[in-house]
Amino acid sequence: MPEATPARKPLTAPQKALHKLGLARDIDLALHLPLRYEDETRIVKLRDARDGQLAQIEGTVTHSEIGFRPRRQLLVTLDDGSDTCTLRFFNFYPAHQKTLAVGAQVRVRGELRGGFLGWTMVHPAFHAAGGELPDALTPVYPTSAQLPQAYLRKAVASGLNRADLGETLPPELLGGLHAVVRGTWTLRDALRYLHHPGPEVSLDALEDRSHPAWQRLKAEELLAQQLSQFTARQERAVLRAPALRAAPGGLHEQLLGVLPFALTTAQRRVGEEIARDLLRQVPMHRLLQGDVGSGKTVVAALAAAIAIDAGWQCALMAPTEILAEQHFAKLIGWLEPLLAPLGKRVAWLTGSQKKKQRGEMLALIASGEAALVVGTHAVIQDQVVFSKLALAIIDEQHRFGVAQRLALRSKVGAADDGSAQEPHLLMMTATPIPRTLAMSYYADLDVSTIDELPPGRTPIVTKVVADSRRDEVIERIRGQLAQGRQVYWVCPLIEESEALDLSNATATHAELSASLPGVLVGLLHSRMPVAEKKAVMSLFTGGQMGVLVSTTVIEVGVDVPNASLMVIEHAERFGLSQLHQLRGRVGRGAAASACVLMYTPPDGGRLGETARERLKAMADTSDGFEIARRDLEIRGPGEFLGARQSGAPLLRFADLATDTHLLDWAREAAPVMLRQHPALAEKHIARWLGGKAEYLKA
Ligand code: ADP
Ligand code: MG
Repeated sequence: MPEATPARKPLTAPQKALHKLGLARDIDLALHLPLRYEDETRIVKLRDARDGQLAQIEGTVTHSEIGFRPRRQLLVTLDDGSDTCTLRFFNFYPAHQKTLAVGAQVRVRGELRGGFLGWTMVHPAFHAAGGELPDALTPVYPTSAQLPQAYLRKAVASGLNRADLGETLPPELLGGLHAVVRGTWTLRDALRYLHHPGPEVSLDALEDRSHPAWQRLKAEELLAQQLSQFTARQERAVLRAPALRAAPGGLHEQLLGVLPFALTTAQRRVGEEIARDLLRQVPMHRLLQGDVGSGKTVVAALAAAIAIDAGWQCALMAPTEILAEQHFAKLIGWLEPLLAPLGKRVAWLTGSQKKKQRGEMLALIASGEAALVVGTHAVIQDQVVFSKLALAIIDEQHRFGVAQRLALRSKVGAADDGSAQEPHLLMMTATPIPRTLAMSYYADLDVSTIDELPPGRTPIVTKVVADSRRDEVIERIRGQLAQGRQVYWVCPLIEESEALDLSNATATHAELSASLPGVLVGLLHSRMPVAEKKAVMSLFTGGQMGVLVSTTVIEVGVDVPNASLMVIEHAERFGLSQLHQLRGRVGRGAAASACVLMYTPPDGGRLGETARERLKAMADTSDGFEIARRDLEIRGPGEFLGARQSGAPLLRFADLATDTHLLDWAREAAPVMLRQHPALAEKHIARWLGGKAEYLKA
């Protein structure tokens, strides 16, 4: 067979492992920083050693034997002239015994334990004595099982040598940078230093990353993030979108007229912010955040009304079918009667749809007869062709992936003059984003916040109780049912096993059915067919079902104002924002509502620190922003970014809790750099974000 291309050498296992860790380019290697350091620069005399010290000693083997108590082990005595130390090896090979034979000179490194029988070290690293002592600390890098530390060390060292680490910051920004990082470190110096710090260094300053070398690195990283987001913003600013104006007497006004309530001040304010965006010929890119129950849906409906009134289509997307239905039932209830006289319709698109029905919907959408298109991910599939899409609304945006968001944006329509247009994009979330996150990860978004709940809600009382008080909890349920109220019972999330998850929910369902005779107790879990889920939901929504036992499928979106009690079993297993979302399912009507967080301590033990912090936060406050702030403290930013993290690099070095001074600097520096030194800006982004920059723009 003729060879088309010369065979490329296959990657070795460690090379593959390097790629898997994302260490492909020299700069990636240079930016792969040590987890910690080992001090091999010194030899400690046993006489001067401390108990527990990680030490390197050198001496002569004076004794070597294989012991059998308590189990088989190699026992070696080392004499360094000041004292002796016993080395213990539970795994050993003949080669070890040879290096550690009596009379051999060896250098060993490990944790020293002092005790009744003198110094010992368990499984120290060792090699023949002699050889020069390194003059820098030895870096220990994060690695994977397939990638030996020694190989990685070499790869990083050569990456560091080869990488282009030339200054990207223009001189006029350096002064400000040096002030915030408290030093004049260049990137090259900082990296060299962090990979190979001298023995005199304060390990504390390296470990807590307060050292100026670290600060410089973090400032650069934050700058890259800001640059890429400002760039995304600039790129969007030249795109076109249809300008949409609310006409007097139009759908927008009509909708306001049929709403059974008056908007809150916050709803009016964010509604105006959105309406102003829609007026512009630049695509909106706005995040609407508001606590659970703050009334985001009606704001979305009003925006949809503007788009539809102007003769365009609006798409609404929710992460699951049941959510789409729950979320948008009201919205459709309001809008559909207003659309009918205009000869317009609402189209549904979901995964479980029959082919025929789906075909009909696709036709409605393509012809433009469907002014409002509602559904799940099905909305962004290729076959869906909009006639005139002007507004895309994504609910629970953090549950969507970046790729899906990009796909929605690419459902381009054509302007009247034939030029390409993008739809306006409104993303909604009930997980409020702490300010520092909004300023960093979401710097390319405009954010609107509903910071007020509709009037007449009574605060939810939150109780944290041990599972041993289950009977009292069931008693409490009886009390609520007797008053005609309804109850949610959420079952533990068992991540490892969906099957176990289910059996748990099933058992609880049986238990509650038995303890509450005459009450309809329903069960909802993620693996039920959609039709069955809908049937259960409608019994609960309709009030016939007193108790709904469910796995976390009800996490978002369910709206049953008569429900007044939320019981969460194994609450210690849930994340903070999840608990908060679940709690938000009650307290939606005028009834006094409560949330019971039941926890099960591990056998005979106490709950872990984080779990206790989470439950305490829940008991302390019901303010979504405060919860979000604590969540950020407890868990770091990953969770907030949701699917964004799958493509976009998280900040690796900067910590938004401690580095706000650096973030402030980066926010000021980025626009200056883009305006005055676009080439340097581009180089900086490429260095730090490589191919990942695209994702940040979604
Ligand atoms: P979320 O922000 O969690 O999506 P929803 O939009 O589902 O909240 O609204 C929660 C409930 O509050 C719904 O029943 C909705 O009809 C009602 N609601 C929304 N706005 C108001 C208001 N201004 N006054 C009274 N009730 C409102
Ligand atoms: Mg909602």
